Amino acid sequence: MDVPRTASGRPAARHRDKPRHWWARTLSWWGAAWHDFHYLVMPAECVACGRDDAALCPDCAVALRRQARDPFRAEEAADALMSVFGQTTLPVVAVGDYRDILSAAILAFKNHGRTELATELGRALGRGVEALPRLLPGTGGRELMLVPVPSTGSGWRRRGYDPVALLLHTLARERRLPPGMSVAPLLAIRPRLPWHRRKQKALGRAARRANVRNSMRIRRRLHRGARPAALLAGADVVVVDDVLTTGSTVGEAARTLAGTGATVCGALVLAAARSPGQGGGGTTLGRRA
Ligand SMILES: [Zn+2]
Repeated sequence: MDVPRTASGRPAARHRDKPRHWWARTLSWWGAAWHDFHYLVMPAECVACGRDDAALCPDCAVALRRQARDPFRAEEAADALMSVFGQTTLPVVAVGDYRDILSAAILAFKNHGRTELATELGRALGRGVEALPRLLPGTGGRELMLVPVPSTGSGWRRRGYDPVALLLHTLARERRLPPGMSVAPLLAIRPRLPWHRRKQKALGRAARRANVRNSMRIRRRLHRGARPAALLAGADVVVVDDVLTTGSTVGEAARTLAGTGATVCGALVLAAARSPGQGGGGTTLGRRA
């Protein structure tokens, strides 16, 4: 099978290519047509200010871009990513703080099915992707594989899409990924028995860490026959997630990937939740330099 390759000859991973079967393509077409029809006949409200307009009115779209214009290092806000000696175990780049329009847009995109926000949020994530070589030490000039943190099975069933992978996919489709960067959805959630399933949101810090331990695995196969193990051997990867809170989830994703021979250079998140005392004071290597 003909597998697309990056400049170095490594097979390029893709996320959710066009369905191979005609019936799947027809279903997908009808789904998209229904979605468009719905938004033609139903008035859309801006998710941030409530004005009758698009999912994000022009003023709020400008404000979102302003909020996302200066990505920063955010791991200091995440306890699970600091060692007992106060050292970083995983550097994390955040596009913005989890507040105002960015948080409203992420919530609407994740929990209220507002997939029309994928373009604006994808572009915001793109600002973070562009900042990676500047903010993550040792990544300048290297090929980076962006690996989304996968949705849980229940999240997927509820939404019908995987938010982080959809944003990366949107970025790739719009050809906004810098040269040498590729999207590789290599992680999957390990199935758990129903009585072992607990929602991260409802748990305290220590319990969150315990809850995500061994929760992910490497996918066995990708579309177009690419094998994750071959993609990961010797690759430089960056874990991508939506919101950073304690860091348990990105930490576990990094741990899972590190066990494959890949070098985990860090993580990228759309937004970092910081306590009031930490507001506006993340480690901004770009600003310090
Ligand atoms: Zn608005």
